[in-house]
Amino acid sequence: MDIYLHNTYTNTDELFTPIQKGVVSMYNCGPTVYNYAHIGNMRSFVFADTLRRMFEWNGYTVKQIMNITDVGHLVGDGDAGEDKVEKMARAAGKTAAEVTLFYTDAFMKDLEALSINPAHITFPKATEHIPEQIAMIQDLEEKGFTYVISDGVYFDTAKFPDYGKLGHINLAGLEDGARIGENNEKRNLTDFALWKFSPRVPLGEDNIIEKRQQEWESPWGVGFPGWHIECSAMSIKYLGDEFDIHTGGIDHIPVHHNNEIAQAVCSGHRFTHYWMHNAFLNIRTGNEQVKMAKSGDNFIRVPTLTEQGFDPLAYRYLLLTSHYSSPMEFSFEALKGAETALKRLRRTLHDFDTELSASSADSPMRRATSDEHILAQYRQKFTEYINKDLDIPKALALIWEVLKDTQLCDADKKSLILSFDMVLGLNLHIHQEAEIPLEVQAMILERNTARENKDFALSDSLRTQIESLGFEVLDTSEGTKVEKR
Ligand code: AMP
Ligand code: ZN
Repeated sequence: MDIYLHNTYTNTDELFTPIQKGVVSMYNCGPTVYNYAHIGNMRSFVFADTLRRMFEWNGYTVKQIMNITDVGHLVGDGDAGEDKVEKMARAAGKTAAEVTLFYTDAFMKDLEALSINPAHITFPKATEHIPEQIAMIQDLEEKGFTYVISDGVYFDTAKFPDYGKLGHINLAGLEDGARIGENNEKRNLTDFALWKFSPRVPLGEDNIIEKRQQEWESPWGVGFPGWHIECSAMSIKYLGDEFDIHTGGIDHIPVHHNNEIAQAVCSGHRFTHYWMHNAFLNIRTGNEQVKMAKSGDNFIRVPTLTEQGFDPLAYRYLLLTSHYSSPMEFSFEALKGAETALKRLRRTLHDFDTELSASSADSPMRRATSDEHILAQYRQKFTEYINKDLDIPKALALIWEVLKDTQLCDADKKSLILSFDMVLGLNLHIHQEAEIPLEVQAMILERNTARENKDFALSDSLRTQIESLGFEVLDTSEGTKVEKR
């Protein structure tokens, strides 16, 4: 079945045509490892993972690259200011390598907690690809796209007529405000650093001249690569002159990704065919929704969720309820709701087993096969949804429709839904029965009897008592069930 993707470059939904039949090559802008990733960053990686799974569902092999930015990303995301890694290393009294290794390791654990298998992905590090980055800058220099000023080698964006086309950046608008005063040696406001010289002047809040820990010899002098060049150099190194998809968060559209295009195209590469961007995960502060950011005080990590008793996959479930291109507001109430839905789903699938084994051979639940035609229709619908620019919210809603379908037997519902989980990544086969204390078990039996006798006052009071012991009460067709909160 055809796959359509929303391409930020053309701002349209386009039919996906792979460069190589049956293979998808994809580059994801990865984390800057000077700090922990927050759950907003993880939205970007769950999006990339779901995209990967959608292609696999469709029979593709996916070649996935995600860079690890361990040098060159400056405070403020521009060409001025301190390197985020160097700053953190200085503050923590650690080496840059200690800092980046520590946060890379934490990042891998976050990926795994969200059902993203790091073993599927290649993670090139910027510091391990300095020669490739220097070679690309030399190439750009030979072709006349660069100039040198006192703090580094810059890309002259005026020489690339297509500059700013991604996201239709209003370059004229930029002239009036945004980046004025950043560096008056630059020829154009949108010009950006390809190589920065190690600073000779005081830097940082305390005005200390620090020798950089991470610096390299280059044809232009000792220094370090600009933040954007790593992505152009490494994507091309690992995926070739042209590749299928490049992803990142929408914050990367105006600068980072336009700069990646300029570097790659001007050094003679065809680069990526489809640009895809995820919207932000926001958080409410007062009356305002603000983007979750590493520099902000609204920093929630995957382990924060676990510490608060949540299954990290409840967060994945929550993310899947919104389309990747819609902004999403995070709240613990919403997470709680997602967790309840996830648990209910897992328990229902688990109970199908129990009920199947308990039921007699000729009961409708044990019908050997449901109508193959109905199953095929559901598979078709699921594929249609996910192939239409990854409409996962609709695919998720379809699962609940399947559960309600009286024409299907439980065994078929279960195997159908578990097959959908290949795309959703929610570990729906897992169901952990919480230890239910005897006291609560007795109350459940008493409540079932109360409900049979239509003694709703007693049934309500038992519900309150059970809840006060930390269990959620669920009324099902088989009577009262409880779930540990
Ligand atoms: P960084 O580690 O800052 O380089 O960001 C890693 C990825 O997370 C990038 O693709 C960003 O665009 C993305 N990102 C950053 N903040 C958010 C957010 N609040 N919601 C969604 N994606 C984000
Ligand atoms: Zn990037």
